[in-house]
Amino acid sequence: MQKISKLGVLTSGGDAPGMNPCIRAVVRTAIYNGISVVGIRQGYKGLIENDMFEMGTRSVSNILNLGGTILKTARCMEFHTVEGREKAYKNLKDHDIDALVVIGGDGTFTGALKFSQQFPDVRVMGIPGTIDNDLYGSTYTLGFDTATNTVIDAIDKIRDTADSHDRLFFIEVMGRDSGAIALRAGIACGAEGILLPEKATAIDELIELLKKGEFNKKSSSIVIVAEGDKSGNIYDLAKKVKQQISNYDIKVTVLGHLQRGGAPSSFDRILGSRLGYAAVNALMSGHTQEMVGLEANVIKTTPIEEALTGHKFKLEDDLLQMVDVLSI
Ligand code: ATP
Repeated sequence: MQKISKLGVLTSGGDAPGMNPCIRAVVRTAIYNGISVVGIRQGYKGLIENDMFEMGTRSVSNILNLGGTILKTARCMEFHTVEGREKAYKNLKDHDIDALVVIGGDGTFTGALKFSQQFPDVRVMGIPGTIDNDLYGSTYTLGFDTATNTVIDAIDKIRDTADSHDRLFFIEVMGRDSGAIALRAGIACGAEGILLPEKATAIDELIELLKKGEFNKKSSSIVIVAEGDKSGNIYDLAKKVKQQISNYDIKVTVLGHLQRGGAPSSFDRILGSRLGYAAVNALMSGHTQEMVGLEANVIKTTPIEEALTGHKFKLEDDLLQMVDVLSI
């Protein structure tokens, strides 16, 4: 097996808290093992535009506690093309880079797989970095825990004002096609309703539920709506409910990008460190076209193809049933 002498690392797609601890772990594990490291700025864009720099152990000092990514991230259409990936390959070869660690979500992994199939001599390892928690092969992705805590913190504050004014709040949270943040935050904040993309919502049922809450003398209600929920625009939804429940003052809050920011939680710092360390070790052992993940507290690798096609978010019916019971 060919020994790796130089490794490139990039972050791509949406940023996620925990990427920095992960970069730090990749850089230090590689250097510890005698492998040079090149940081690639702005994901695949930097790879194509040759925006790279040598990294040392000190270039990742004091970043464990920082949100975002020191390598920056971007979305890059050119990487979708064979020619774009050829340019990227040429730049990697010019820098004598023989392995690549990509930290990102499903789009990033699709790009990594295509690149690796086109140029199999560059070993590629993926690390799941996305707040959406939508990749198969890792129970948790980097950033999910921090983002969920951020959402909980925001909803706690909203609950204070909702309670003071007898208000009903519809709160939209991120997650693309995944309801993972919505479900966890809904449980932690005692939401009266949780609307998820994985489950069709009957508006009548929701209205019934909220009326019951009113009858039971609830002074406020919170309904969490995952951004990928199929019942339509959150403002239209609030209007429809308003027509049937007039007592409540109904408000809508879209939490938006604040969910991506902030210092990574202890969980994401440790997860990032473990996955970064594991990714370099896996590459050194000859693995390629795989993703490192954590399942049942054990680090494992999964072929990228499987990480992309495996069905991640099995709707946790037991959790939803629990929400119905606990929110009476
Ligand atoms: P998040 O889940 O946080 O949005 P992501 O990794 O899914 O992160 P994307 O914007 O979907 O974010 O993908 C990141 C980058 O990966 C794209 O900008 C593009 O450069 C590359 N990429 C995505 N899909 C493909 C594809 N089909 N072929 C080649 N490259 C791709």
